[in-house]
Amino acid sequence: MQVSKNISLKPYNTFSIDVRAARFAVFENIDEARELLKVQRPTTNAQAVLILGGGSNILFTQNINGLVLKNEISGIEKIKEDNDHVYIKAGAGVNWHRLVIHCIENNWAGLENLSLIPGNVGASPMQNIGAYGIEIKDVFHELEAFHINDQQLLTFNVGDCEFGYRESVFKRKYKNEFIITSVTYRLNKIPVFNTSYGAIEQELEKMGIKELSIKAISQAVINIRSSKLPDPAQIGNAGSFFKNPEIEKSQYQQLKVTFPAIIGYDLPNGNVKLAAGWLIEQCGWKGYREGDAGCHNRQALVLVNYGNATGEQVYSLSEKIINSVKEKFNVILEREVNTI
Ligand SMILES: Cc1cc2nc3c(=O)[nH]c(=O)nc-3n(C[C@H](O)[C@H](O)[C@H](O)COP(=O)(O)OP(=O)(O)OC[C@H]3O[C@@H](n4cnc5c(N)ncnc54)[C@H](O)[C@@H]3O)c2cc1C
Repeated sequence: MQVSKNISLKPYNTFSIDVRAARFAVFENIDEARELLKVQRPTTNAQAVLILGGGSNILFTQNINGLVLKNEISGIEKIKEDNDHVYIKAGAGVNWHRLVIHCIENNWAGLENLSLIPGNVGASPMQNIGAYGIEIKDVFHELEAFHINDQQLLTFNVGDCEFGYRESVFKRKYKNEFIITSVTYRLNKIPVFNTSYGAIEQELEKMGIKELSIKAISQAVINIRSSKLPDPAQIGNAGSFFKNPEIEKSQYQQLKVTFPAIIGYDLPNGNVKLAAGWLIEQCGWKGYREGDAGCHNRQALVLVNYGNATGEQVYSLSEKIINSVKEKFNVILEREVNTI
């Protein structure tokens, strides 16, 4: 375990923002994390420690004066099974897509719609990652998390995590309190195919798939994502910068009168979810660039760093977008990306 001082975090975040960490270390198991926290924690304040996974859902707007701990706990194992399910436990540092591929190769179904999401296993329950009609909460069994101050390892089941749309207790109530060390997923032995969302069916048809399989669905999702989303290796970004906002049905009906093309999806609670990308596009931001910070020219929901943007510049652009959407539609956009 080596603690580096004053290092650039540019290689460690997909936005490629060049801030510095006063101290940075990698840990591969709980004992190493415990040691690093004991030796390196400058104060008793847990906020002085930042846990980093793949850095694909973070916007750094300042240097980090405390300790950045990169979670590299590895390992994927089947811990139990019953007639219908297998329970797969993965270390928090396992690359998410690698886990998805591993499960597909073993015919364990449930993660295929979540193919190619960047980042690591440990962050998957943080914001209840989701795509193409599936969220982590649908396949989640339990997780283990290490309390930074109490130094205890606790188990959280699905109820404890209080999952919501890109939400969990770890993003709100217990923010910065825990290190998620492993996550166990409950996967299906007999797949339940979910192809109704987005363009999956069209893509499967284009691929000439005659017999549906989790592998084919995964490949369809990979194809769609690769054609739609900017690759962070080419252009800095953290995927969708904003959440799709939820509004009351009455407000939606009023908006529909003024903006007949507005896109909304009915929710089980009676509210309506709007497409944030559409709102942003209507305000004229798609393709907009301010220095090296910009709004992607194909995906208005994705803010980008063309090279040397600072986190503050990206944040300031996001602020302008929020204000203009509020002004035009009286709808408040919320950031999905964690700003630090
Ligand atoms: C091109 C692109 C496409 C994307 N598409 C999607 C998508 O379809 N759906 C979706 O949901 N997300 C998407 N994302 C966002 C991102 O990939 C996910 O949120 C992912 O789960 C983040 O994982 P990470 O390891 O990179 O987390 P990081 O960015 O490293 O961390 C995110 C937050 O979690 C905390 N954290 C990370 N690991 C731990 C841990 N082990 N214990 C405690 N706290 C931790 C960090 O402190 C931070 O607050 C996309 C991002 C990109 C760049």
